[in-house]
Amino acid sequence: MDVDAGHGAALGRALPAAAQTVPTQEGSFTQRLRSFFSFQSNNDDPVATLTRTHRNIHPSADVAVVRRSYAIAESMHRGQFRKSGDPYITHPLAVAQICAELGMDTTTIVAALLHDTVEDTSYTLEALHGDFGPEVTHLVDGVTKFDKAYYGKAAEGETIRKMIVAAGKDVRVLVIKLADRLHNMRTLDARSPASRARIATATLDVLVPLCDRLGIQALKRDLDDVVLYHLEPDSFARIDEHVKNRPGWDEYLADVSGKARLALRHSRVDAQVTPRPRHYYSIWKDTVAGGHSVPLDLPRIAVVVDGPDTDCYAALGAIHGRWRPVAGRFKDFIASPKNNLYRSLHTTVVGPEGKLVEVLIRTETMHRYSEYGVATSYRYPKVADEPPGADQLTWLKRVLDWQQDTTDAAQFLDSLRCDLAEGQVTVFAHGNAYELPSGSTPVDVAYELSPRQGDQCLAATINGRLAPLSSPLRDGDVVEIFSETDDHVEVEPNAPRGPRREWLGFVKSSQAQMQINRFFDEKNEPGISIADKVRLGRATIGLTLRKHDRGLASEVPLRRLAEELGYPDLETLLVAVCERSLEPDAVVEQLIALVDHPD
Ligand code: MN
Repeated sequence: MDVDAGHGAALGRALPAAAQTVPTQEGSFTQRLRSFFSFQSNNDDPVATLTRTHRNIHPSADVAVVRRSYAIAESMHRGQFRKSGDPYITHPLAVAQICAELGMDTTTIVAALLHDTVEDTSYTLEALHGDFGPEVTHLVDGVTKFDKAYYGKAAEGETIRKMIVAAGKDVRVLVIKLADRLHNMRTLDARSPASRARIATATLDVLVPLCDRLGIQALKRDLDDVVLYHLEPDSFARIDEHVKNRPGWDEYLADVSGKARLALRHSRVDAQVTPRPRHYYSIWKDTVAGGHSVPLDLPRIAVVVDGPDTDCYAALGAIHGRWRPVAGRFKDFIASPKNNLYRSLHTTVVGPEGKLVEVLIRTETMHRYSEYGVATSYRYPKVADEPPGADQLTWLKRVLDWQQDTTDAAQFLDSLRCDLAEGQVTVFAHGNAYELPSGSTPVDVAYELSPRQGDQCLAATINGRLAPLSSPLRDGDVVEIFSETDDHVEVEPNAPRGPRREWLGFVKSSQAQMQINRFFDEKNEPGISIADKVRLGRATIGLTLRKHDRGLASEVPLRRLAEELGYPDLETLLVAVCERSLEPDAVVEQLIALVDHPD
């Protein structure tokens, strides 16, 4: 069974269908929680809502295949139930609904309906391949978890690594995984407080940052809020109370929007102005960050200009001409984009009645990418006016690059967390801009330039001045790296060469950590411990067994095989597998023979 399974039901709208205004409060998940108790499922046609949502966004979509996949999923999961007692099929149906509301294509919806069949039922990847073809199979396989009973603690890391590798080929794997987690989080109420907190924390740890990196704000808002609901129920309730009792709030926003429209018209800027409420989590974050005793929630409007990027600056001029801007609150995420697809201008002005008002300014295209990130090209297939998710894919490729060098799943997970860390700085080196984790140093920059530059780096200047290699860099710093092989660098003959171990104490980027570790691993074995090798050997056998669609319920046959092959114990056999002095395929063949024909 899905470890995250709670009680489920097909929820109402999981995401706003229209990109225009995003009434997060009205569509807040508490209300949805409330409403789903009264939600009457469509008994005669359980997929009616799903196919309608899908057709609304993609009018020529083939819903026959959606119905066929539902029928198979339903029959495979029949007899299984969620913690709440609901039939299990309510879960994949809700996950598919979330994907449909995001605007994903038919293949994604089919895979979402089937996403737990291979993991939790007797349906095999082969059968899936025969019924729905390679694309759906790849997507389902990408979200299928490794067996916890078999992998033990490495299961989580290995599962996430597998998912990331699968997403490298097809990013829709991650969209399904995020929708899956969103629905599981919404239905955690049937579980103990401890497991709710554990799952919510794990979500916040990796999946929310992943969602942010993929730029799918529409999904991230819902994930954020459901995490807050489980981790900080009191704060959530306080913000909910605050948001629902704001006399004059709507009138004020309508007044500001009207005046902004007028100001824009005077400046001849074509634009739509709409109130844009914040979601609960973002109110909570600002409240905590500012140390406020009451929820801090400034009124906010979005200006979506109908024209080229430069119109955003014209709109900014119009707004600043109408109301005085607050110093230090202007941010230009168009000229300096974040490390996801988000692009906008942000400013805060002193609005009517002397109240502060936040203003977001963007074009229609920026608006789409800001809401849907990598999902944009699926939602709007005909207007792919920008390379779909180019930034995300570069990032994903880099993660995939270093994952090949990480043998240990736990280490992989650590590096991923670090890479996803929210704080980032942009620095300039040798003519290029680099995004690095905050606190990064010239050594991080050197490894970003190339592994060789990193290994041979000797000195650095920051903004033209010589600085220690361990200096933390600030946003906008210009860095120059000097290495052993530079012609103009004179190296003292006795100066130590190559990377230093102490660098590991201050570097921040995964790239630098991996490269330095690799350097020392190569120089002096053993780079990984026996315990790691045992774990890896076990993981390798598990993977190989999966190729044969098999798993191991107990270690007894493996121990017997170790004995038969003349190894002193199971651990030694696993080390041999890890070091490839024993071929995993051969081991698995003998193992299967041993289990199938015990004599
Ligand atoms: Mn699931």
